[in-house]
Amino acid sequence: MIDFRSDTVTKPTKTMRDIMYNAPVGDDVYGDDESVNQLEIYACKRFNFEAALYCSSGTQANLLALMAHCERGDEYICGQNAHNYKFEGGGAAVLGSIQPQPIENDADGSIPFNKIAAAIKPDDCHFAKTRLLSLENTIGGKVLPLEYLAQARDFVDMHNLALHLDGARAFNASVELNIDITDITQHFDSVSICLSKGLGGPVGSLLLGSPALINKARRWRKVLGGGMRQAGMLAAAGQFALEHNVERLKDDHENARYLAQKLSEISGFTVDMTNTTNMVYATYAGNISIEEVAKALKQQGILFSPSKQLRLVTHLDITREGIDIFLNALSAHI
Ligand SMILES: *Cc1c(COP(=O)(O)O)cnc(C)c1O
Repeated sequence: MIDFRSDTVTKPTKTMRDIMYNAPVGDDVYGDDESVNQLEIYACKRFNFEAALYCSSGTQANLLALMAHCERGDEYICGQNAHNYKFEGGGAAVLGSIQPQPIENDADGSIPFNKIAAAIKPDDCHFAKTRLLSLENTIGGKVLPLEYLAQARDFVDMHNLALHLDGARAFNASVELNIDITDITQHFDSVSICLSKGLGGPVGSLLLGSPALINKARRWRKVLGGGMRQAGMLAAAGQFALEHNVERLKDDHENARYLAQKLSEISGFTVDMTNTTNMVYATYAGNISIEEVAKALKQQGILFSPSKQLRLVTHLDITREGIDIFLNALSAHI
């Protein structure tokens, strides 16, 4: 299968499976899982945070962050396109009694500070209490400028808010900018990192923060049913992914650039060339049904999500040859 639907579809390699098979485990709810503990210690060093928590998913890590920063009746400000607003089932409101205040993202994925400032509520019983600004990097495949992150830190300090990063794909940003991940994460009070996307781990995300914040998050994780027992088999795979699969994200970005270029040469496709990481966004305005094309390509072992606004994602299991096979198959049907 050549699967462009998402970078979540990567499968553990033989080496990763061996690591999982041999991982020392224990009951993580008792704090006894050596592999989970190792991963959390490793993550603290890698991201320069004092505490870390292994979570079942990115959605859970973001929700735990929101619930640890905010109390019932508080609010967080985020982008209109933020994953933790738009794509997480409204979890903060449903499970945390926390109100989102979304603001239209600029084309580069940032949220203008004047609009954020205007959305911060005064201390008045009519309003929810604004507690947190949540940013996402990369967002829709776009890297937020480092300078914007530094400005965000100054902004939240000035307004007495906390700052969370949905860094599901933060490594795509650091690799693209050729900087250390801490150059990005240093600005934030909490960061979530997906191990199961471009990094190629099978399951799980990390949440990083202060010991007090992570203690709260650990408590909520248990409440939400996320206290996993012998989770070390998964955590060990996650650590392997962090140790081996970061630098190679460059290849995914190069492959995405190649795919974007070639796709833009096929008639009917308009490709957004401003994305610089592992996502290619394109619209198709030709006469052929893109749904029918997707069905035909599926017969040939090629998967993509058909829609007017196409998103094609490159990852560990997509090679340059796979992209050529896709482009040839697509051309044959268009
Ligand atoms: C995928 C993703 C998440 C959620 O991760 P899951 O592990 O799928 O729950 C959160 N934020 C962003 C930006 C993502 O891309």
